[in-house]
Amino acid sequence: MLNTVKEGWTTFKSIFTGMGVTMRHLFGPSVTLQYPDEKMELPKGARAKLYVNIDDCIGCNLCARACPVNCIDIETVAATSDVDLGKTSTGNPKRFWLTRFNIDMAKCMYCDLCVYPCPTDCIYMVPEYEYSEFDRSGLVYHFSNLKPEMVAEVKEKAEKEAAEKKRQKEEMMRKKAEEKKRKELEKQKLEANKSIKEDDSSSKPENNDS
Ligand code: SF4
Ligand code: SF4
Repeated sequence: MLNTVKEGWTTFKSIFTGMGVTMRHLFGPSVTLQYPDEKMELPKGARAKLYVNIDDCIGCNLCARACPVNCIDIETVAATSDVDLGKTSTGNPKRFWLTRFNIDMAKCMYCDLCVYPCPTDCIYMVPEYEYSEFDRSGLVYHFSNLKPEMVAEVKEKAEKEAAEKKRQKEEMMRKKAEEKKRKELEKQKLEANKSIKEDDSSSKPENNDS
């Protein structure tokens, strides 16, 4: 009998408590967002999606080297001497064409480690989280703004300039080696002449007038 009363009281208490919570929220402000019509604002510093301001990128590769899962893929080509790529908004000189700058967000683990080493602060997280895709390849973001023809052109120019620089360096090395050899031969010749003179002077009979 006592148990039945206790159980009845517990049941009544539970219902009363539950209904109390319901009534409290029924007349309070709604906390449910009608997504996707309504969206929650992400807190400051939230890591949702990477973005690269390619105009400020100097192609230093520090972000790619910091990434623990290798999801940043950068290819750079040195600008030839006839081209001035200008400076970034932070004043850093740009010396490389960014022929490829891809980030695979399917691999990214949102650690932010790529963001900290960037010297121009041009890679950062943006509060955009609605970017699901049916195909994983759609999660590879391409940030390079160079057209394929331009990429081919800058590569060709860079290769030509590199080959010319190599040729000039080899030529300089060859000339230096020749100069060194010539100096050595001259030195040997001088030494040989010197020893002949010394031999001659030692073989002459002494002039004893007394
Ligand atoms: S957030 Fe982390 S995992 Fe993602 S690209 Fe940057 S370093 Fe790599
Ligand atoms: S660290 Fe910054 S400047 Fe360097 S390659 Fe990455 S995004 Fe570009």
